Amino acid sequence: MRIACLGLGRMGFHIAGHLASRDGSDDVVVFDVVEELCQDWVVEHGGTAADSVAAAVTEASLIVTSLPSDRELDAVSAELVPLIADQAVWVDHSTTSARIARQTEGRVSVAGAHFLDAPVSGGVDGARRGALTVMVGGEYGAFARAEPLIGAYASQVRHMGPSGAGQLTKMTNQICVVGLCQALAEGLDFAARSGLDVENVVQAMLQGSSTSWQMENRADKMHEGEYDFGFSTTLMRKDIGLVLDEASALGVSLPVTALVGQFLADVDAMGGASWDWCSLMERQRHFGSASPTTDRQIES
Ligand code: NAD
Repeated sequence: MRIACLGLGRMGFHIAGHLASRDGSDDVVVFDVVEELCQDWVVEHGGTAADSVAAAVTEASLIVTSLPSDRELDAVSAELVPLIADQAVWVDHSTTSARIARQTEGRVSVAGAHFLDAPVSGGVDGARRGALTVMVGGEYGAFARAEPLIGAYASQVRHMGPSGAGQLTKMTNQICVVGLCQALAEGLDFAARSGLDVENVVQAMLQGSSTSWQMENRADKMHEGEYDFGFSTTLMRKDIGLVLDEASALGVSLPVTALVGQFLADVDAMGGASWDWCSLMERQRHFGSASPTTDRQIES
């Protein structure tokens, strides 16, 4: 089976790698607008690099995309849809709006193929280990065909409902995690300023009611002030923007999500656009001794 993987960034590089190392006779073809990424991928995994979206997707039965945002998905869709093979399944792992997911699904289905919005959770480490959580929206029959292949790089693959439901589930995930990371930043800052041994405090809390994935995987980095890895402030700000747009259309109030979005704008202004977004800790350190009335935006 010919599999085309488009977008070889921090996530797509590993996703395509797991597909290439699956048992069987899959022919994995990759494309990224950054040519060096294609060359590096071929050196590491031995598949084929294409020189355009068109060359990659022609005759592919499965297409896997990991693109930054709505804009790139729309651009790829314009090139891809006229060439998509009959009954092919396109699995999109980009985090986008539910609106563009539904729009793309409509275009692809008119062309006789299938589109699944399938955003992921688990980060670069999850992609590297082949242990992502994948939340899928779209037609169930197409999901059932794609599920075993997605299993090459996921520990959990779930069908969430019709087109757009994957993106809405990912938005829910982001709503549930943003306040939690800010609370962790506040707690660690409070412990440090109280003179406690922060590492010891974290060990105690990991077995208690405040434990979380963030605490388990990010508390030490936050304590040490190491942010040069992971899911960037820029990408989290993009996700919060998608969430707030959707919430506004639904008439849902998300005050904590909106506030953390503003805090991440502060992190950006501190030079942290590319830092992992747990750098909310750095903002907390900066403002932690300020009075509540001044605990707001950095002057730009
Ligand atoms: P990235 O920016 O590292 O990779 C995106 C890749 O797409 C880049 O290599 C870029 O050159 C390529 N690209 C852009 N336009 C293209 C086009 N027209 N044709 C082919 N390739 C094109 O981003 P990432 O971190 O890999 O994230 C991908 C998606 O997954 C994003 O939507 C992100 O929000 C989501 N995501 C990322 C993480 C993470 O930890 N990085 C975690 C969960 C979800």
